Formats: sequence, structure tokens, C-alpha cells
Amino acid sequence: MAVRQIRIIGDELLKKKSRPIEVIDEKIIQLLDDMHETMIKTDDGIGIAAPQVGVLKRAIVIDLSREGGEGPYKLINPVVTKQKGEQVCREGCLSVPGKLGDVVRPKEVVVEALNEKGEKVKIKAKDLLAVVLCHEIDHLDGILFVDRATDLYDAEDDEEDI
Ligand code: ZN
Repeated sequence: MAVRQIRIIGDELLKKKSRPIEVIDEKIIQLLDDMHETMIKTDDGIGIAAPQVGVLKRAIVIDLSREGGEGPYKLINPVVTKQKGEQVCREGCLSVPGKLGDVVRPKEVVVEALNEKGEKVKIKAKDLLAVVLCHEIDHLDGILFVDRATDLYDAEDDEEDI
């Protein structure tokens, strides 16, 4: 495992669309492990997407376990297949240091993906997990939370970053 460098807003790569993963090989397993380690090494990271470490592939890692929640999830080719309701969450992002923004997201989502073994998984998520899933899947389409935010704020040190 290795910590990779996190791309920061202004980097053109963050605006690009990521490609689906067709073969789950050693490189992909390594990528997911490295993404998880990179996220854990940050103070407040709870989610990370492959483009944030410079790889335009559809892979995300989410870990709410240090907040007492679910995870880690290592997801390949994730797709939101159902969504319901609405919530406004104050989001931050490892790629947008020092900023938070209010973003309208679904209250509940169903996400279908493959896990690192290539098995189909279906995650029924609500509240924070639903927000993090939507935020990370946005990264795969080149969308940052600041593109969706209705209001932006300066961040305090103890905020979560996704
Ligand atoms: Zn992010």
C-alpha cells in the first residue's frame, strides 16, 4: 500500500470523465488499497474517488467507520439506480481544501457496483452515506461539490472531507 498525492481543484484532470473498469486485476486492487490508505492518512477524509489520485477510472472508496458508521466500501463502476427525497448537506472535499458548501442531494439512494472481488453489490444508503456516494460518483463524472453548491464557506479544521 502507498499513499498517493491528492489532486487539488484547478487540476484539469478533476474535470474529466472517468472510464469504466473492465478487468479487476492487481493494479485495480492496488489502486483501491492505495486510495483507502491515502484517505485514512488525511485528518478528516471519509471518501475518495480515483480521479482525486490522478487515475481516470470508475473506482471509489468510502469509509465512515471512524465516524462510527459503515465501511470501508471499495466500489468499482458504481451507479445510482434509485433515489428518493432530498437533503442539504454541508460538504467538503479533499481536493478543495479550506472550503465547504451546501449541496442538495437525495435523502436515500440505491447504488449498484462491483466489489474488489468482482461481485455485484447493491447498497441501500441514506443520510450521510447517501451524500458521500453521490459526491464520489460525481467525481467520476468530473463534477466537484463546488459546481453544485448553493453557498460556499471557509472550512474549520474539524470538518469531514469527501
Ligand atoms: Zn470530493
